[in-house]
Amino acid sequence: MGGRGEWDVAIIGGGHNGLVCAFYLAQAGLHVVVFERRGIVGGAAVTEEFHPGFRNSTASYTVSLLQPKIIADLKLHEHGLHIVHRRMANFLPLPDGCYLAVGEGRTKGEVAKFSSRDAERLDAYHQRLGAVSDLVRGMMLETPPNVTASGFWTALPQLLKAGRLARRLGALELAAQRDLLALLGRSAGDYLDDWFESDPIKAVYGFDGIVGNYASPYTPGSAYVLLHHVFGEVNGKKGAWGHAIGGMGAITQAMARSAASRGVDIRVGSPVKEVIVEGGRAVGAITESGETFRASAVISNLNPRLLYLNLIDQGALPAEFRERMSNYRCGSGTFRMNVALSELPDFTCLPGKTRGDHHTGGIILAPTLRYMEQAFFDARTFGWSKKPIVEILIPSTLDDSLAPPGQHVASLFCQHVAPRLPNGESWDQHRDTVADLMIDTVNEFAPNFKASVLGRQINSPLDLERTFGLIGGDIMHGSLQLDQMFSARPTLGHGNYRGPLPGLYMCGAGTHPGGGVTGAPGHNAAREILRDFKRGRLIRAA
Ligand SMILES: Cc1cc2nc3c(=O)[nH]c(=O)nc-3n(C[C@H](O)[C@H](O)[C@H](O)COP(=O)(O)OP(=O)(O)OC[C@H]3O[C@@H](n4cnc5c(N)ncnc54)[C@H](O)[C@@H]3O)c2cc1C
Repeated sequence: MGGRGEWDVAIIGGGHNGLVCAFYLAQAGLHVVVFERRGIVGGAAVTEEFHPGFRNSTASYTVSLLQPKIIADLKLHEHGLHIVHRRMANFLPLPDGCYLAVGEGRTKGEVAKFSSRDAERLDAYHQRLGAVSDLVRGMMLETPPNVTASGFWTALPQLLKAGRLARRLGALELAAQRDLLALLGRSAGDYLDDWFESDPIKAVYGFDGIVGNYASPYTPGSAYVLLHHVFGEVNGKKGAWGHAIGGMGAITQAMARSAASRGVDIRVGSPVKEVIVEGGRAVGAITESGETFRASAVISNLNPRLLYLNLIDQGALPAEFRERMSNYRCGSGTFRMNVALSELPDFTCLPGKTRGDHHTGGIILAPTLRYMEQAFFDARTFGWSKKPIVEILIPSTLDDSLAPPGQHVASLFCQHVAPRLPNGESWDQHRDTVADLMIDTVNEFAPNFKASVLGRQINSPLDLERTFGLIGGDIMHGSLQLDQMFSARPTLGHGNYRGPLPGLYMCGAGTHPGGGVTGAPGHNAAREILRDFKRGRLIRAA
């Protein structure tokens, strides 16, 4: 049974999951305080001015995975959130002057330009992938069965939960079970090669397999990352990606307003330097400024490795768990830029500087899966590839609140770069060179691009780590590989939002169901914490 704190709950980190968790706990009547290190809440989902007069989502830049239940429970629309659809899902310019446009009713015709066989297979592909996506979508807001070594009576509820899950899997058609197996174990490249013969459609779909995943599209397990990016929805449209008016910060500002309306005390500019552990139990936190807060439950929104290796006295942790956290794999090959533009890119393959539908979609510069694989190999060897993968999104084509009239902002989401450079070199030495390379890469497809850049913001993996606390720039708070997923996220035995120290919980993307602006870890962690209050494992503050 826990000790009494001055707060019922102290949450470390005001990322979107911390805010969602805070909302549910406060809604249940608990007294909740959130400590956020930065001057704004939102974590990786924030909108900031990066060049005078130009604002953009600094890191995370497009919305799909945010759970409809969370949008409804937090009344995010009433708190100002408005999400709009793209007019084209994706646009893939090709070096030979052709292109592939995907989404909004045009995919079949477009794919047929390259392969009529592939065009005919599209419906079946979406139907089969959709069946598995529906299953995974249904598990987002559930706590996975936890593996425990604590004896029969503790294990029994988990075994029952696992049994219910097995029944659900068993109810799937055999073809869907096979697809699930393939999507969990195979590479995105192998999966797509089985379906399609032409490169462009494989590149567009395969890009999802390497987003935030420092791997080749032919690395086993990358098919799951592909799946992870298709189980979202926008305003009820499954699999779609959209734009939050005002940028991703509009989501987290609405969350903060919603949490505050339930009485959550949100303190920005309040980095926590240590979790207080007494008698083997977490009982509070100390901020960098030396203030001490005692709480019945301490909840971390941080990457688990950051929490357990940096904020906790190492002697307070079981040695085996400490080692697991040291080996928890983090580091996505992400290099993220924001650019202020005087005009829209004029693509050689689809000329025009006035807004076309293609300007509103995710513009992928990576023509084939092999190109992506080579980018990964180069990054492993040299730190980055001379032919990098760039996705461009120009949110100002859908949202006039971000740039001055007639001008634009673009997000450049670039992969693959090495989370840590070879030979001990620092990203501080190479940030600008690689940023120039990314701009030159876009320029090859849209020759007016370089000259249109008025200002730029660069986030190398090191910058993502420094600014947001993302270890190795990992956008997911830890790789999404089978041994770090579901019951094993962040590690087997702690897949239920509880770590080894009583009183200390995790609610960030390093827990099930992983990264992305979903709100799901925060939602699920809140449910588990409320359960512990109900069972008397936690007691309300005096
Ligand atoms: C470049 C990039 C692009 C992405 N693109 C997308 C996208 O388009 N769509 C999508 O859905 N997802 C995207 N993601 C992933 C997604 O944004 C993250 O997985 C998600 O935001 C993680 O949310 P979180 O609340 O769990 O953690 P975070 O957002 O990381 O929040 C953790 C918070 O803890 C704070 N913190 C850290 N240390 C301390 C401390 N000691 N004391 C107090 N506070 C502390 C941090 O400042 C931060 O605010 C992207 C991420 C990145 C980085």
